[in-house]
Amino acid sequence: MIILKDLLSIKNYLAQPQKRELITGFVPTMGALHQGHIDLIKQAKKNCGLVIASIFVNPTQFNNSSDFQKYPVTIEQDIYLLEKAGTDILLIPSVETLYPEGTAGLENYELGYLETVLEGFYRPDHFQGVCQVMSRLLKSIQPTRLYMGQKDYQQCMVVKKLIELISSSTKLVTCATIREEDGLAMSSRNKRLGIIAREKAIGIFRTLVFIKETITKGALDSVKKEAIKLLSSYDFKIDYIEIADADTLELIDRWNDNQKIVALIAAFQEDVRLIDNMVIAS
Ligand code: AMP
Repeated sequence: MIILKDLLSIKNYLAQPQKRELITGFVPTMGALHQGHIDLIKQAKKNCGLVIASIFVNPTQFNNSSDFQKYPVTIEQDIYLLEKAGTDILLIPSVETLYPEGTAGLENYELGYLETVLEGFYRPDHFQGVCQVMSRLLKSIQPTRLYMGQKDYQQCMVVKKLIELISSSTKLVTCATIREEDGLAMSSRNKRLGIIAREKAIGIFRTLVFIKETITKGALDSVKKEAIKLLSSYDFKIDYIEIADADTLELIDRWNDNQKIVALIAAFQEDVRLIDNMVIAS
């Protein structure tokens, strides 16, 4: 595995004639890797001749500075896991190389409705930050395929929109959420949960399963109310439990059972904010 530390090096490396012909798969991450990330690498390896990963904790997508400061860093183990999974190139840029002009006054993307709901509402400017880093990475790497996790459902929709906005030819491949044995979605933030908080964290998955199993056509207020009760019983402080159209993310309070929908949750277990979702097919 080759490790590169700035965008120009990776651009030059990929410009070599024998590399240009390859189908390239890109897996962007913020490090503190787990099996969910490694699964993305494995999916990329199935279809691509060259697999590129990046590790960059992007300051512009954190709207809470303590969340940024406390973000787990396990770089040596990450390098080991990526190499073992067969990654060809790992990009680890510094903030200075990614944002040579600094992080203030960066460009803005027209994300419309997507930026006003759910994560967009609760984490103002978060998706602008995601687009700022992803546009730089996509422009330098120009991967054939980009692998991202359904765990961050709204982020996948935002990045799909970004790909259109910057007229990139990259194809987004959304991969299934990888879970712990008890159902908790794997997340780098899980590392910050104490033993008791980790046990209670299962409440998010149980609430999603509850919604999926009890939802019926018609009004959704009673299933939502029961879901809030259930998640609260695990001592979660809830940002949202919502049900939305799976393609547009429009929030719905009635369901005609032909519509493909997704249940989405964001909630705090102690001071750790966790998100998860589950698609409910008709
Ligand atoms: P992060 O390091 O949290 O920015 O995540 C990097 C990529 O890994 C994103 O595309 C995430 O959606 C994806 N990812 C994170 N957790 C999981 C998971 N449990 N299963 C599948 N993909 C995941």
